Order: sequence, then structure tokens, then C-alpha cells
Amino acid sequence: MRDHDQSLWQQTCRERVESTVLTNTLTVDLAVIGGGYTGCAAALTAARAGASVCLLEAQEIGHGGSGRNVGLANAGLWLPPEDIRAHLGAASGDRLINLLAVAPADVFELIERHTIDCEPVRNGTLHCAHSGAGLKDLQNRYAQQRAVGAPVELLSTDQTRQRTGSAAFHGSLFDPRAGTIQPLGYVRGLARAASEAGAQFFTRSPVQSLTRSGDIWVLETERGSVRAKAVIQATNAYHQSLAASAPAYVPVYYFQFSTAPLSDNLRASILPGGEGCWDTGLIMTSFRVDQDGRFIIGAMGDLSHAGSGAHRRWIRRKLSELFPQLSDQPLTEGWHGRIAMTSDHIPKITEIGPNALSVHGYSGRGIGPGTVFGRLVAESLLREDPDLLPVPMVSEYCESWTGLRRAYFEAGAALTHFVKARF
Ligand SMILES: Cc1cc2nc3c(=O)[nH]c(=O)nc-3n(C[C@H](O)[C@H](O)[C@H](O)COP(=O)(O)OP(=O)(O)OC[C@H]3O[C@@H](n4cnc5c(N)ncnc54)[C@H](O)[C@@H]3O)c2cc1C
Repeated sequence: MRDHDQSLWQQTCRERVESTVLTNTLTVDLAVIGGGYTGCAAALTAARAGASVCLLEAQEIGHGGSGRNVGLANAGLWLPPEDIRAHLGAASGDRLINLLAVAPADVFELIERHTIDCEPVRNGTLHCAHSGAGLKDLQNRYAQQRAVGAPVELLSTDQTRQRTGSAAFHGSLFDPRAGTIQPLGYVRGLARAASEAGAQFFTRSPVQSLTRSGDIWVLETERGSVRAKAVIQATNAYHQSLAASAPAYVPVYYFQFSTAPLSDNLRASILPGGEGCWDTGLIMTSFRVDQDGRFIIGAMGDLSHAGSGAHRRWIRRKLSELFPQLSDQPLTEGWHGRIAMTSDHIPKITEIGPNALSVHGYSGRGIGPGTVFGRLVAESLLREDPDLLPVPMVSEYCESWTGLRRAYFEAGAALTHFVKARF
């Protein structure tokens, strides 16, 4: 079977990071576990602040969601502002809303400052209404976003057709703060910048145990160890080993397929402004183009099981429905990734012990939030100030029936795709 961990992003990424396997014993101020956006942003922040920092990654930088995602650098969370306030309370909710409103600006500023080679396009995103009910959802989101000062615009059916090149949508919500990136390039670029600032990176070095010795944390890998004053566990949906500090979430798979670079004629008819898009469907669809003009379409689903043919057949049909001009285009690359969903869709910061925090659960919105959370969790630990955290930390976080709920989501996506591909 094809390896669905191999993505288009690995083929087109031009950023490289120097790293080796950990084979000795180190002593540092901050040890970071996991080389995604959260871990690399934390390492960059700590190194720039003058702390000694090392990052341990089980595989390669960007092995997890950070190297597989759609590349939509959005403002805010998946949840609209009123829901965030309802879950966190007004004060914490407003703080998170304000922090994440500028998250794309933070991402694009880091890209510029460190000349990260990751195809940045800051031309906004379009949340497209797949139905009349989807348009109502967007009208509600528009009202809530405008109430907190977000410069979003509600576009008509005609405007959406002109912007996307598809006649399938009932309207869309345009967010000019957002944009698209080459997701693996961005995470590798963050790692390179952190490395240039003095952080040490070790890959193929899964942390196998995390224990306390006096007032120091000890992290053991197969061939080395790290002694650290503070620890950030940023392993999210790709957590392995370390059963005692495993994050609780519902795993949801999301797959993508890409075409070869489109001809100039086709390219001119599809997303001429280069926005990144997703729709309001419950089993949502996303689409965008990359720098070379490949069209990339994605949806919820796991490509690795026997029933995954339904996802492939459906995505082919969906492509033709949305963009009839692309119906003959072969889909050359396909890959998937795992998203850590929490029940309330709010990211979690849990306390593993003194000066040790775990961060997870961006629920499919992790480029901006991962960058912001990584930075603030590092600052909070180094300054020993919990008020700097983007959400209040909790001593533990549980999710019930995660296996069952994963099966429910996957069966729902496969069944929907099976039925829609046939009729
Ligand atoms: C298919 C897909 C599409 C998505 N689309 C978008 C999008 O368009 N926009 C958006 O904002 N978000 C999107 N997301 C969400 C986003 O990608 C994630 O929220 C984000 O990448 C999480 O970053 P992270 O650093 O927290 O975790 P990850 O990137 O998952 O990194 C965790 C790392 O920890 C390592 N690790 C695990 N255990 C150990 C250990 N014991 N020792 C050492 N290392 C360990 C893993 O190997 C992994 O590299 C998407 C996610 C997926 C999967």
C-alpha cells in the first residue's frame, strides 16, 4: 500500500534543517519535545531570549500535522468568538480572541524576518457556503467577527464565483488577514531560525521517559539524555511513548490530493487571487493552489483502511462538481494526517509537573495558534509567569470514548463519500 505519510509538501519543500540523533547528555534551561509549529516556535522564542534550549523530535521536523496540513494560515479558532467566550469566560475568551486575531500577522512576520522559504501568499482566505444553511452559518460568523473588529467581508454568489472560479457556492466569508503557506517549509524554517539563534535540534530521538530528579527534569532517549529546568511537550496528535503525559483528544483524519501544475489557461480561471478556501459542509472540503499552480483538494477521511476507496472516488467527483474544467486532471499525489480534536474545540495546556507543560488540541486550526501558543508557553515558563499563557492551564484534561468517536467520524465521512460518489 502507498505510504500516505509522504506528502506533496515533502517533494516541494526547499527549507532544510541541520539535526542529528541525541547521543550524549545535555543540560539546558528548556527542553522541547516535538518538532511541529508549537515546539519550533517555543524553541525559537527561548533561544532568542538567550535561554539554552534543545528540541527532541521522534522522527523528522514536521513529521506531524505541521508537515501535512492544507496550509491555510487563518485568524482565530474554528469556533466563532461568542462560543470561545462561552467556553472560557469573557476575560480569558477575549484574551484568546485578540491573540489569535493577529496570529496570521505573527506567522507572516516570522516568515519575513527569518526569510523562511515557504511560498507565503497573504491574499486572504474564503470560507465558502456549500448550501443555504451554510450561508446562514457564514452570516452569523460575519456578525460575530465584525463585532470583535475583524475586517471580514461577506461575498455574494457572483463575487465568490469570480474569486474561486467555481459556480457551486452560495456566497463566502473573506478574511483578508489570512493567507496560505507551504506548511512543511514554514515549520522547517522556524526550526532553522531557532537553530541559528542557538537552539539544538535532535531528530530520530523519541523521548522515552520524562522523570523528576530533585528540581530538574530528566528526559531519556534511546542513546542520550537531557536535564532541563523546564519542559514543553508539544507532541499533539502524533504523541508517542510517554504514556503518563499522553494528551487526550479525538483523532480525526483529513486527506488531500493534488494535480500536476495546471496550464496557464486553467490557472487563470481558478483562484486568480490565490486565496485559500474551505467550505461549510459538515464533512468539509478545502482547496487551494500552490506556487507552481498545482490544485490541492482535501476532505475529512483516513486513506489507510480498506474502505478508503470511497474517499478517492468522492474527491474525484467533488473536483469535477466544483471545477468542471479540472475533471480530466489526474490527481497525482495523495496523503493524509491526524488532527487532535477536543470536545469544545479549544486548545489545551496541561500541567505535567513543576515547570512542565503540554500543549495540544488545536482542532484543525494550528498554524497561527501553534505559533502563538509555542511562543507564549515558552515565555511563560522562562519568566515563571502563568498569566502569559494564552489559555489558563489545567492540571489534567480528559476526553471520553476517543476510539469510538474516531470510528464514528471516520465511518460518517466514508459513508457520506460512498453515497455521494454513487449518486
Ligand atoms: C491534514 C491536516 C490539515 C490541516 N489543515 C490546517 C490548516 O489548513 N490550517 C491550520 O491552521 N491548521 C491545520 N491543521 C492543524 C495543524 O496542522 C496542527 O494543529 C499543527 O500542525 C499542530 O502542530 P504541533 O506542533 O502542535 O504538532 P505536530 O505538528 O503534530 O508535531 C508534533 C511532533 O511531536 C513529535 N513527537 C511525538 N512524540 C514524541 C516523543 N515521544 N519524542 C519526541 N517527539 C515526539 C511528532 O513526531 C511530531 O513531529 C491541519 C492538520 C492536518 C492533520
